[in-house]
Amino acid sequence: MAWFKKQRKPIEPQDKQSRVPEGLWVKCPSCAQIIYNKDLWASLSVCTKCAHHFRISAAERLRTLFDGAWEEHDRGLQSTDPLAFTDVKPYRKRLDASMAATGLNDAVITATGQVDGVDTVIAAMEYGFIGGSMGVVVGEKITRAIERAIAGRMPVIIVSCSGGARMMEGALSLMQMAKISGALARLDRAKLPYISVLTDPTTGGVTASFAMLGDVNIAEPKALIGFAGPRVIEQTIRQKLPDGFQTSEFLLEHGMLDMVVDRREMKDVIARVLRFSVPRREVPVETERTVPAEIGR
Ligand SMILES: [Zn+2]
Repeated sequence: MAWFKKQRKPIEPQDKQSRVPEGLWVKCPSCAQIIYNKDLWASLSVCTKCAHHFRISAAERLRTLFDGAWEEHDRGLQSTDPLAFTDVKPYRKRLDASMAATGLNDAVITATGQVDGVDTVIAAMEYGFIGGSMGVVVGEKITRAIERAIAGRMPVIIVSCSGGARMMEGALSLMQMAKISGALARLDRAKLPYISVLTDPTTGGVTASFAMLGDVNIAEPKALIGFAGPRVIEQTIRQKLPDGFQTSEFLLEHGMLDMVVDRREMKDVIARVLRFSVPRREVPVETERTVPAEIGR
């Protein structure tokens, strides 16, 4: 028998409903500045006070790079769950949830459009889809995008935003590293440029394959870029890692990247790279050099 009984009901929690409408303002996780959503949209999701780069979706990424409309390719490709894999929940359920959340069928959008007037193929990875992981569909879509670029004599840009290979597809996901790298080698032999853009985060099998294979490797500021996580490395080599390890700036200093570029300047920088690496089509190619007769003698 209890000594006493609680008679009163616990105090009701106060009505905590915010008077600020949802989604109108965003708080910067870096400097705590409250930013009006429209302002954030206008600055390409970069904090206007501290230049913190918010993570953006694949579709938003294409909007920041293409001049206008783009044509999407292979939208219908879907994973068949080849291993019928289940961890804490079935892989099939994870796929369905990600499809519903992002409106995409897998973790990459591949598209053709113009960047500063140059016909370009862009593959942008979607972190919202199982951590932007690279499975069979991502590998196939990127490979097809590169092959399309070779056929149409176009440069390729791949924007990485990924936790690495998709473990739910086992060895099949790892094979995509070789498949995409092989396609990039063919692009190279066709003398077409490949620009790799590394955003936060670019890790695992993506870093270990195509993200580091660009003719020019450009990263966004303060992005996490690495293969294994810092804790795993510390445990393996039994050494303390230096400060800022695996950030864009650290990698630039150690020769792993060519440039670290603010998202707001990214398109201009890419346009400049394209200008010196892709011959302009409208300029007629000089077939014969005409040497004045006097000089010829
Ligand atoms: Zn900020």
